[in-house]
Amino acid sequence: MSKVALIKCEEYRLEYLKNKLTEGLSFFGGLKSFIKKDDRVFIKLNCVGPFEAEKAITTHPIFAQAVIQLVKEITTNIVIGDNPATKDLLFTLKKNGLYDVIVEENLKIINGREFTTITNSKCRIYSDFQVSKAMVDVDVMINLPKLKTHSLTYMTGAEKNLFGFIFGLNKAGWHVKASNPLEFGEAINDLYGAILDAYKDKKILHIMDGIVGLEGEGPSSGGIPKQANAILISPDGISLDRVAVELVHLDVNKLFINNIGGARGYGENNLEKITILGNQLADFQDVHFLPPKNSLGNLGLKILRIKAVRNLLLEHPVIKHSECIKCGECVKICPPKAMTIKPGQFPKLDKSHCIRCWCCSEVCPKNAIKKSKRPIAGKIIF
Ligand code: SF4
Ligand code: SF4
Repeated sequence: MSKVALIKCEEYRLEYLKNKLTEGLSFFGGLKSFIKKDDRVFIKLNCVGPFEAEKAITTHPIFAQAVIQLVKEITTNIVIGDNPATKDLLFTLKKNGLYDVIVEENLKIINGREFTTITNSKCRIYSDFQVSKAMVDVDVMINLPKLKTHSLTYMTGAEKNLFGFIFGLNKAGWHVKASNPLEFGEAINDLYGAILDAYKDKKILHIMDGIVGLEGEGPSSGGIPKQANAILISPDGISLDRVAVELVHLDVNKLFINNIGGARGYGENNLEKITILGNQLADFQDVHFLPPKNSLGNLGLKILRIKAVRNLLLEHPVIKHSECIKCGECVKICPPKAMTIKPGQFPKLDKSHCIRCWCCSEVCPKNAIKKSKRPIAGKIIF
């Protein structure tokens, strides 16, 4: 049986949070079961972009600080960080308040620009991954994902947060190489398998910040902050994500990345084989997250493997001019260059090239990118 600790936790207050985390960790024998004295620890944040903490897009600074202070009781050899999609990490950390915590706790921020190659010998699509060396050259990783919905992948949690091993804009290229959601799910699992392999003689612990999560059009400025009052802890990221989707009453059949990971043996995603410790799911019966609009089930995802039907069946990005500040971030990240911009003008979309990866919406600082209505043919088929 895999184990997930589920702890009710209602606010971002440092000492209160440390007590709650300690309570959750006690089900695994405490942090000392994962970290030895003087071990080098990497704390992996969710720092997708420069957004204020209250937007619930990034790991909350007080949540991170509580984890840091507990780790520092065992070792001070800690590095921390992430690889944001488009912006510089320092800029991003300053915007959401994490930088102040890192300075206060005297930690070293990782340099994501030095790379190493990790390998998945049982890959389905990609075997080799160039990842940030600092994220691998440690004894222990503590992964701090946020509990969020996701326009492309339905939800994002422990497993998807490790996509941040890939540096900055290099992530965007993946959406071209694996341009439909199911292929993308396989590729993310190829990476996850490579990370598990790189860490096979080390330890990984996932601690999810689900106190305030994101519902609707997550994982960025399109989502709506929503109180879920939960901390989830597990050494198995697949199990943790499985419990998380149940917690917020979303549809596990649409959680395709996690389901692929479970089927490939990277963790346990059968709820009946997961022991939930601490609070139980029934304690969260009032927590209901809105799913991303028009999310697809397995049949829909399979149909999307046929590229030609995408334009006929799927909604596309629409730029809301009243919100857009013409910053060009959406253009910068757009993997197939379907979005273009001229100086002083709004971005323009060439729908025929758009692969519906929703990276543009993920990096838009103003939530100016919306989904169009789904075409009638898409409504009928899906
Ligand atoms: S326009 Fe947006 S959704 Fe379409 S391919 Fe570019 S980034 Fe992806
Ligand atoms: S849509 Fe968003 S990301 Fe694109 S230019 Fe406008 S504000 Fe910037």
